[in-house]
Amino acid sequence: MQRIKAKIRDIADFPDEGISFKDITPLLKDPEILNFAVKALIEPFRNSDVSVVVGMEARGFIFGSLAATSLGVGFVPLRKPGKLPHEVETIDYDLEYGASRLEIHADAIEPNDRVLIIDDVLATGGTAKASCELIEKLGGKVVACAFVIELNELSGRQQLDDYSVHSLVKY
Ligand code: AMP
Repeated sequence: MQRIKAKIRDIADFPDEGISFKDITPLLKDPEILNFAVKALIEPFRNSDVSVVVGMEARGFIFGSLAATSLGVGFVPLRKPGKLPHEVETIDYDLEYGASRLEIHADAIEPNDRVLIIDDVLATGGTAKASCELIEKLGGKVVACAFVIELNELSGRQQLDDYSVHSLVKY
């Protein structure tokens, strides 16, 4: 996991003052570490009968798609409002500052789908919790939420205490 950490860059005061942004682009560019990270993300769920991977815009699309192909299942995007062209299901949720909304195609999840949710960073957990609730609204079952990075001090794991949570590196 130290090899993963070595490819994550801290960018101070991005996108706002006081935020230390975890930049995963060096990790994405390294084929060996990227492959290692994707394998480690899905490893606990190889025998969990996952039927679909869901990823959040935008970095969740990258890890989510790679995880889906590695598991041999399809990928479903969760997007910011107004981006999906077909009928959508929506959830509003609170962020650390302000509020946000996520959308998913209403027909993207089959009842009883077993869903693995993937994003790059678990921070406050608000986004992941809203994602879980959206999947459940459509009748899916959340197998787990998996993240490359977990920011311990923001206690995202507590928000997700009804769910199984997996992360590769912690800060
Ligand atoms: P959360 O607070 O857990 O709802 O995080 C919201 C979203 O912001 C997640 O999809 C993360 O990818 C992103 N995010 C939050 N904090 C950081 C950070 N320090 N560096 C990079 N991305 C972040």
